[in-house]
Amino acid sequence: MTATGLRSGQVADAAGVNLQTLRYYERRGLLSEPDRSPGGHRLYSPETVTVLRVIKAAQRLGFTLEEISDLLEAGRHRHGQNPDAGLQARAKEKLDDVEAKIADLTVIAASLQSALDAGCDDLIDCAHSPTCPLPFADLASDSPSITVLPLAEGLVSNRGCC
Ligand SMILES: [Zn+2]
Repeated sequence: MTATGLRSGQVADAAGVNLQTLRYYERRGLLSEPDRSPGGHRLYSPETVTVLRVIKAAQRLGFTLEEISDLLEAGRHRHGQNPDAGLQARAKEKLDDVEAKIADLTVIAASLQSALDAGCDDLIDCAHSPTCPLPFADLASDSPSITVLPLAEGLVSNRGCC
């Protein structure tokens, strides 16, 4: 077999990742073991560029490397696999997560807009003000999936009340 393929730098450049990332994915088993040139350099198949792009895109969609590894594995052995491990099932789970976060963020955005509109400029004063639009009780206790309090920190530095 002739030693053809892409060198590490070529693969990394083509996929828009750095060499450390390439090596890391390789160590984690996300990429199959590359061939070696007679001189011992790694030689990657052109398909590796696609796999790297897939990994980046999947991370952007919110999948962890662990999940991406499972998905790549499931894709390689698609027949007879547990359907719960496939992309459809995983994408559905991720979509549910994202939609829940969007719902939370929508509430947060509306609260922040209300605070801006009302001229809120001191959280403690606001908490004591019956006219303050910030839903302190709801934000503090309502949904365990909402983690909004750090977002409100930017409001603390200002002085005054709404
Ligand atoms: Zn206020």
